[in-house]
Amino acid sequence: MTTSDTPRLLALRAALVETLRRKGIRDPAVLDAIGRVPRHAFLESGLEDRAYEDIALPIDEDQTISQPYTVAYQTELLGAKPKDRVLEIGTGSGYQAAILHAMGVQVFSIERHPRLYEQARRRLESMGCGAILRLGDGSLGWPQWAPYDAILVTAASPDLPKPLIEQLAPGGRLVVPVGDLESQRMVRATRRPDNELEIEYFDHFRFVPLVGRSGWQAADLEDH
Ligand code: SAM
Repeated sequence: MTTSDTPRLLALRAALVETLRRKGIRDPAVLDAIGRVPRHAFLESGLEDRAYEDIALPIDEDQTISQPYTVAYQTELLGAKPKDRVLEIGTGSGYQAAILHAMGVQVFSIERHPRLYEQARRRLESMGCGAILRLGDGSLGWPQWAPYDAILVTAASPDLPKPLIEQLAPGGRLVVPVGDLESQRMVRATRRPDNELEIEYFDHFRFVPLVGRSGWQAADLEDH
């Protein structure tokens, strides 16, 4: 893994930011973070060259690092401000956690695969990214650090995971792709100060499944 930038990688990253702007991403803090975090450092060697294409790419354990547009889209919907406490479910490569950290938020992130957890932990540590990571079932949240100003799920859920809603602070937002295993709708659930939940629906995406007690059960995935 190389974290070092070259003039070519810097130019490709700047071009990616322009692509995302053209596709409708507006939040300057999100675009700025994508312009600063070296996505190539989150990929296995051999794929670094493709790091600044706007596509999802494979990581270990049959998982993916999300498409940059999807990362930007979810991060924009999250509306996180510096110093907010944000919980991410599905650390994967660690790229999304690094984007949130670059925006000045306090990041907590959970991954269920030991190998991905360990790789992301080492990678983020070596980059000086202070995200707090945990190995486990993120569909249950992380009550120890709750409540959160925002919770981001980067895997497909069959429903709004109840434990995550319960761990939102008043005014807090949960952004999660909800649907079946083929296609999901991006949903934002906001806990209003009067405790009512406001639900908004956005575009369709396709994520790898959230596998856990409040997600898909392993048996649901056997035929897939
Ligand atoms: N955010 C990641 C990144 O920046 O590379 C990409 C995430 S990938 C699309 C989805 C991740 O969610 C996978 O790494 C998968 O192992 C993880 N995952 C699925 N179910 C999970 C669960 N219940 N708890 C924690 N992680 C889970």
